[in-house]
Amino acid sequence: MTNSDSPINNENFLELIIRKDLDNGLNKNDLKFRFPPEPNGYLHIGHAKSICLNFGLGKIFSAPVNLRFDDTNPENESIEYINSIKKDIKWLGFEWNSECYASDYFDQLYKWAINLIEKDKAYVDFQDQEIISDQRGVPTSPGVNSPYRDKSIEENLSQFQKMKSGGYKPGDCVLRAKIDMASPNMHMRDPVLYRVMKTAHHRTNEKWKIYPTYDWAHGQSDFIEQVSHSFCTLEFEVHRELYEWFLQNIDTKKSLIPKQREFARLNLSYTIMSKRKLSELVDSGLVKGWDDPRMPTISGLRRRGVPPQAILNFCEKVGVSKRENIIDYALLDFCTREILNKISYRLMVVFDPIEVVITNYDENQSETLLAENNPEDKTYGNRKISFSKNILIEKEDFKEEANRKFFRLTLGKEVRLKNAYIIKGESVEKDDKGNIKKIFCTYDQKSKSGSGSPESLRKVKGTIHWVDKNNCENISVDVYDKLFKIESPDENPENDFKTFINENSSNNFENVYAESNINNVDYDKYYQFQRKGYFKLDNKSSDKKFIRTVTLRDNTKF
Ligand code: ATP
Ligand code: MG
Repeated sequence: MTNSDSPINNENFLELIIRKDLDNGLNKNDLKFRFPPEPNGYLHIGHAKSICLNFGLGKIFSAPVNLRFDDTNPENESIEYINSIKKDIKWLGFEWNSECYASDYFDQLYKWAINLIEKDKAYVDFQDQEIISDQRGVPTSPGVNSPYRDKSIEENLSQFQKMKSGGYKPGDCVLRAKIDMASPNMHMRDPVLYRVMKTAHHRTNEKWKIYPTYDWAHGQSDFIEQVSHSFCTLEFEVHRELYEWFLQNIDTKKSLIPKQREFARLNLSYTIMSKRKLSELVDSGLVKGWDDPRMPTISGLRRRGVPPQAILNFCEKVGVSKRENIIDYALLDFCTREILNKISYRLMVVFDPIEVVITNYDENQSETLLAENNPEDKTYGNRKISFSKNILIEKEDFKEEANRKFFRLTLGKEVRLKNAYIIKGESVEKDDKGNIKKIFCTYDQKSKSGSGSPESLRKVKGTIHWVDKNNCENISVDVYDKLFKIESPDENPENDFKTFINENSSNNFENVYAESNINNVDYDKYYQFQRKGYFKLDNKSSDKKFIRTVTLRDNTKF
């Protein structure tokens, strides 16, 4: 999809901000963006929105985009997450300019903190977090100064050095900026820059006993990389004043001061969008890992068979705005179907089989028929399917007696077997309990699909899928439903989102039979099981295990 046929916005407001900056004298060559994940989990579809936005702007303006790992919380971070994040971004089709790490700037950040103390703009506070937080008070009235706020510069310098060298325990003290305890913006009321943490870091190992906070690290990292526009989600709007204060108060030689601007997060119905909460699902065993096909993670969507282009189109349709809302999961499914219809190979697979015997077909005969691999794209070519006297159809595609609205197989009426012949229901064989065991039909020998004969063009009301009972394969299929029972499982913080898990969201089907071409399927390709939906070979298991990506249609209109 091109920018111009996006139904929501042709040019997003962030693009307009950049154009205005260019009009006001910013050099086009100075444009630079970044995508800054914290490596504390796998990326989700919300991150895809930020990736599409930042890398999309990079493409529009031919500007570099850095991948920056915001790795300032060693307790929750790991190399596994770093690797998964890189894999997901590449899979979405984007290339970063430089791979950067906030941890590479720890020395510089430390020096800047010393500078702030030297300018009497930072101090070491020995109070408990709770007290610090109480003293901040409420936005409508001034907070209370810390008793440690007016120590001498020398004292603060030596205490901060002691923090760095491991002389204090976690929780003993923090370094705070000295800004304004009366500011209506709570983030300006002496925010914390450093805390003591005796955790080894996945990149700097044991070197640091103190770690910078998000606020202290983020803007300065943008500055070090000379990022021109730092786009983040709306909850950081209230941090912007602090972001700017830090950049004004550190000693800088470079001229370009990054600009932070905010956009609305992506929220998707029936799921949650936070690495921390998704990691709770993984840790508690409620899902089978980060790439569980029910997860809204990029790796979960990939495993379920959502192609990258569907995610890109989805992000484009959602657009970029300043207003938070919840996007209907059905829109993602719609984008998935739209792509899969174009690129998937067709196969016939019967999920709940019943045998059909074609009485006027010779027992010793069988034949090979041709079927299109993809009617949407002739370049996909044809495949061969076998046909014989005994075939399998879906149980639900047959009724002994049916009303006029039933367009599938019934006694005395005709139906077309997809890619094959027209058959007519003649009689059934039942077991002692009255269950139908076999259906007997006759076929019209001249009605072969694609043969060009007048009979082949004969229209009958229904077409059903089938497989050759004498030449088919048993496969296993996982069908997943929504992970949560309600639209906004984490809307109310009073309720544990995990209580809304849909316990029946994973179903397995084993009595499933596929045409023999199933033996040639590929992990990289996408499949439509005709009349049943889109399916992907599960890359986590051996062959013949499929996952349903999405049904063929639903009634939601976009
Ligand atoms: P999470 O709570 O899932 O960890 P986060 O914002 O803490 O989310 P980061 O790894 O810090 O995750 O995010 C990297 C970038 O992706 C940030 O710029 C962030 O604003 C953006 N981002 C995260 N979640 C969303 C979302 N739901 N919609 C749009 N952008 C998002
Ligand atoms: Mg974060």
